[in-house]
Amino acid sequence: MSCQNKFPCPCTAKGCTRHGKCCECVAHHITHGEGVPACFFSPEAEATYDRSVENLARDRGLLPPKK
Ligand code: SF4
Repeated sequence: MSCQNKFPCPCTAKGCTRHGKCCECVAHHITHGEGVPACFFSPEAEATYDRSVENLARDRGLLPPKK
């Protein structure tokens, strides 16, 4: 698989071989049920490593913050 990565990767997860490889990253998250890739989140939400759609909705202000 090859693709041109056009954006800097903001993911702070250590040791991931897909870092900076957008096509591989998105494909991995889709096929392994690992939620949303890091680049969709704000830096604060990305740092929680909660990649769920629910956390993304909270991050975007579509759901109230967790209590
Ligand atoms: S979002 Fe997931 S697959 Fe993408 S670089 Fe980070 S840990 Fe790797």
